[in-house]
Amino acid sequence: EDALRLESVSKTYGERVRVTALDDVSLALPYGTFTAVMGPSGSGKSTLLNTASGLEPADSGRILVGGQQLDTSDETAATRFRRGRIGFVFQAFNLLPTLTVWQNVLLPARIAGSPVAKRHTREVLDRVGLGDRLDHRPAELSGGEQQRVAIARAIVTRPALLFADEPTGALDSARAAEVLTLLGESVREFGQTVVMVTHDPVAAAYADRVLFLADGRIVDELQAPEAAGVA
Ligand code: ADP
Ligand code: ADP
Repeated sequence: EDALRLESVSKTYGERVRVTALDDVSLALPYGTFTAVMGPSGSGKSTLLNTASGLEPADSGRILVGGQQLDTSDETAATRFRRGRIGFVFQAFNLLPTLTVWQNVLLPARIAGSPVAKRHTREVLDRVGLGDRLDHRPAELSGGEQQRVAIARAIVTRPALLFADEPTGALDSARAAEVLTLLGESVREFGQTVVMVTHDPVAAAYADRVLFLADGRIVDELQAPEAAGVA
């Protein structure tokens, strides 16, 4: 059983002019793997993340998360299904400006009905290097720190699947390295499965598998030597 399976997933946009964003994509991601998705602008990377996570319905095909089929026909049920199983990290951080670091990490899980222990929250914030910034608001943090808050928020419930859309796009290379190391640790230490869209080859090198999309299809892929059992 894989953390994520896509079976012949297709997705088009538009009524008059139809754009094929995903064209018959099949994919299996085992638990505890770190996959990067690369490809030119418009190749379907965001659509892949959005449909695989159930944020957008696919037109055809099947999506299985931990062996269970994702059903987007009922939005409430889909949201409930995602909870605790699927986490997101976006480039734009999406932090709530009026809340502190502590509240930003703790509250979404509480509101979603998956309470996380305060001690565990504290550990996660220490781990991302923000243990001394708990009472600061996002505007008081650098871009890298804000991104680390967003990652802490995404991993605090330890979702089996973590989707990250350009998580390092707004960061300088030192901050990007921190964020990527953190994602790698989530994979190796907690067995989380990470799928990361990136334009940056340096970022992709942290993954153990790199998928290349073009025109809504997976046209190529690379495995890290260890992942392929060569090293
Ligand atoms: P990428 O993330 O690789 O840049 P996207 O998944 O955003 O690619 O887009 C894939 C294709 O689908 C592109 O041609 C894009 O213009 C189109 N597309 C994406 N979202 C929409 C939308 N909401 N409405 C119409 N077309 C869309
Ligand atoms: P970085 O190099 O980490 O991207 P900066 O050079 O902007 O960030 O900030 C250096 C340090 O000063 C960081 O720890 C950051 O959180 C802190 N800092 C920056 N701006 C503020 C602010 N307005 N209030 C409190 N701390 C800040």
